[in-house]
Amino acid sequence: MDKTETEIRLTVGDVETLVLDVLGANGFSRAQAEAIARTMVPAETDESRSHGVYRLIGYVRSVKAGKADGKAEPVVTSLSPSIVRVDGSRGFAPLAAERGRPLLLDAARAQGMGALVINTVLHNSALWADLEPIVEAGFAAIAMTAGQSAVAPHGGSKPVFGTDPFAFGWPRPGKHPFIFDFATSAIARGEIELHRRAGKPIPLGWAVDTEGNPTTDADAALAGAMLPFGGYKGTALALMVELMAGPMINDLISSEAAAADGGAGSAPLGGELILVFDPERFSAGTATANRERAEQLFAAITGQAGARLPGDRRYAARRRSEREGILVPRALHAELLALAGQAETR
Ligand code: NDP
Repeated sequence: MDKTETEIRLTVGDVETLVLDVLGANGFSRAQAEAIARTMVPAETDESRSHGVYRLIGYVRSVKAGKADGKAEPVVTSLSPSIVRVDGSRGFAPLAAERGRPLLLDAARAQGMGALVINTVLHNSALWADLEPIVEAGFAAIAMTAGQSAVAPHGGSKPVFGTDPFAFGWPRPGKHPFIFDFATSAIARGEIELHRRAGKPIPLGWAVDTEGNPTTDADAALAGAMLPFGGYKGTALALMVELMAGPMINDLISSEAAAADGGAGSAPLGGELILVFDPERFSAGTATANRERAEQLFAAITGQAGARLPGDRRYAARRRSEREGILVPRALHAELLALAGQAETR
């Protein structure tokens, strides 16, 4: 490969090794590192770059700043027959989510519904990665998590909410699960970071500067406030996420998470709520027939030129990455190798 090219092509295995090397060199336990890799590598294969390997820099920063414990062992308990709690002990969300999942699915099978309360984790991952194994097991599911205050309410100009993502999944036996997953801000904060790193302007409508003026400057946007998607509707959804993934589960709201960070620039500390529904139990044993009607609904969308299902772009990217590898910006790759204490070899 020509060293003047701005991107380097890595195999999926190379990316996994890079993630494990960076985290291993920076004091993460093997369990934390492998769980992070199981969400971060798919983010790269699915071209969900805002949650890909560039996040390693923030993960390491969080541990070095003493905000996160890269060796934390999550503690799983049962709050009721249908509610499972995992105390992430200031570790990262992926391991806590994985450790709670078996009991969560048992609870959902036994009760028809299950909830996973994840407390005290640093969360910087894409929610679809938490939902995919649950939905592939045959359940419908919802996930949400608050962040660090960065988003102004509709009509305002000062940060109140995090980017507060919300995701929903529906099982499709024999097919990739249907999952939508979005920040309740106009865009994920990581996208603004990536524009800043690339020296590119951001589109109008993503953010305002510190004076409340619309801006296309990524630095001004990060210093000012991001905007909600869908005006007052996005603001209302963000408020729901804050309430359900904050006070409802005895965890932090975004302003408290920002205060806990104290400007260290670590991943947001807080909770995540995952709700799981068993279609078989909700439809009194008619899930198979009803699944067909759901498929008709999907077909009514995919049958229209110009329309597609959320997730289809990701699944197409996944197939492409597995075939052709993953493109990583060369400068980022060099930065990550340095973080792993390794020299660039190509
Ligand atoms: P996007 O705006 O990129 O996409 C949101 C969703 O909409 C995806 O499911 C996407 O599917 C779908 N979609 C996009 N375009 C279309 C279209 N034309 N037709 C149908 N569906 C479409 O996401 P965001 O920037 O809001 O969020 C990105 C990620 O960031 C999410 O995974 C989220 O969980 C994560 N996040 C995590 C946070 C955290 O604190 N942990 C905070 C904020 C965000 P597809 O992917 O197939 O394009």
